[in-house]
Amino acid sequence: MDAASQIWHAHAFEKFERPGRRVVVIGAGISGLVTAYELECRGYRVRVLEGTTRIGGRIHTHRFGHGPGAPSVELGAMRIPAHHHHALEYIRRMGLAGKLRTFTTLLSDENAFLRTEDGFLRIREASGPLRENFRRELERHRPWQRHDERLDDGIVAFGAWLTAIVDAIAPPDLREALRTDLRRQLLDLVALVDLGPHLRGPARDRVDLHSLFSAHPGIRAGCSARLNSFLDDILAETSPDLLRLHGGMDALPRAVAGRLRGPVLLGHRVTGIEVCDDLVRLTVRAGSRTVEEHADLVVCTAPFPAVRRMRLRGLDADKLDVLREVEYCPATKVAVHCREAFWREGGIQGGASFTGGRVRQTYYPAPDGAPGQGAALLASYTIGDEAARLGRMSARRRHRLVLDELSVVHPELMTPGMVLDVVSVAWGNVAWSGGGCAYRWGKSDERCAEELRRAFHPVGRLFFAGEHCSTASAWIEGGIESALRAVEAVGRHDRAHRTATAADRHDPAGAL
Ligand SMILES: Cc1cc2nc3c(=O)[nH]c(=O)nc-3n(C[C@H](O)[C@H](O)[C@H](O)COP(=O)(O)OP(=O)(O)OC[C@H]3O[C@@H](n4cnc5c(N)ncnc54)[C@H](O)[C@@H]3O)c2cc1C
Repeated sequence: MDAASQIWHAHAFEKFERPGRRVVVIGAGISGLVTAYELECRGYRVRVLEGTTRIGGRIHTHRFGHGPGAPSVELGAMRIPAHHHHALEYIRRMGLAGKLRTFTTLLSDENAFLRTEDGFLRIREASGPLRENFRRELERHRPWQRHDERLDDGIVAFGAWLTAIVDAIAPPDLREALRTDLRRQLLDLVALVDLGPHLRGPARDRVDLHSLFSAHPGIRAGCSARLNSFLDDILAETSPDLLRLHGGMDALPRAVAGRLRGPVLLGHRVTGIEVCDDLVRLTVRAGSRTVEEHADLVVCTAPFPAVRRMRLRGLDADKLDVLREVEYCPATKVAVHCREAFWREGGIQGGASFTGGRVRQTYYPAPDGAPGQGAALLASYTIGDEAARLGRMSARRRHRLVLDELSVVHPELMTPGMVLDVVSVAWGNVAWSGGGCAYRWGKSDERCAEELRRAFHPVGRLFFAGEHCSTASAWIEGGIESALRAVEAVGRHDRAHRTATAADRHDPAGAL
């Protein structure tokens, strides 16, 4: 079966009946599917055009093998912070709440590894060396504070662990700048609060950043925009309140698609959009056919790098500018199918190691495969330039490099027969997304808000949604938030249009 003939629903191309209520949604990622679902709930007739042969977009669960026992790994989104209400609400509405499980994250398994200046250490033994290194770093950069009695052990522990987290999570271009902001601003603010209630661990040498920041929100107010813009993601990614869907995150887009009455047409790539006064004209490539399609309204959820590749007509200059201006952050994941979950022998039950180098982060997914079918390891997760560098290599070279580097920490990978398969996605190379997510870190709140306003802004009958059009870019939450906003905008447009049409009917000469 060729790609173009793969249709998610058995529906053939339908003829829309009610004029003024035909909507085409471009993209079957989470934002496109939620847009379609919400529009159908409001009585619109919707169809979704998806360029690839898979629904879910950047929610991409890979299964090593077939059948329910095949171990799975997330090559796209993998966790949901507990405060992401839209995402959790959709999981509940789709009947998936029973599949929610805790996601064990970076630095939370005491036996996982952390790369430090002293080499690879287990997290449980890293506190002392991290604090020593941080003290030395402080003395290098803030010698005048060497004898400052406020620089007590608690503050050093705070700075040491936050630096470790920044090193593990931030893209390389931001890492050094964030370390500087941390030294110059954050320590002085933290020195003013009592860290006692936030110290954790048997030696009380770790600071619970989540409880500290929520007890003292004023600390955030004193940080630079650059540091602040990244703290949300740092806190989210290391939160103890992260969730995942047992069996794979793709259950969510599949469930939403399964609730749609209209078709989701896979292998239907939109290559052109022309916005006219009374309709939107789409050029669609389906297999070897190119068809023209007219819609009353269109919601485009394709990421902007994919939209830039389309032939665009009828869009104003500001929209064309913002389409070019929104930057995307590369992200690369490399996953390994192992004969067995050897890391469990070493006491690692889950979570992730910060392995640094070119591998950066290594996650140990919860075992959900059947016994005898092996185990999945997310060997490497990189973002920014490091992801782009891995992306530029051939898949074969990328996989070799990751296995070689990671085997320094996990020599079991070199045992004959241990590695059954390796897969990867360099999202920066994927034409359908052009990156892992819209890149807003390091930008001021005002700049982000302005970019977001312009990205979302409809052009006549053409509306926009997708994580890049949301306040939670880089998250599923953002995709859903943008979909709900787009649906509201479509409703407003339609109501205004109907009122205008009714007025015309009463006064065809336009004398009103
Ligand atoms: C590596 C990685 C890790 C992530 N981790 C997390 C995480 O842990 N938690 C979290 O919440 N979020 C995470 N995210 C972000 C999350 O995956 C995205 O924010 C969300 O899935 C975006 O949804 P979307 O619908 O806006 O875009 P997409 O999912 O990209 O959907 C857009 C769709 O449009 C289609 N399309 C593009 N061009 C065309 C065209 N010309 N014609 C037709 N169709 C087209 C694409 O194929 C795609 O299916 C991660 C993302 C990546 C890449």
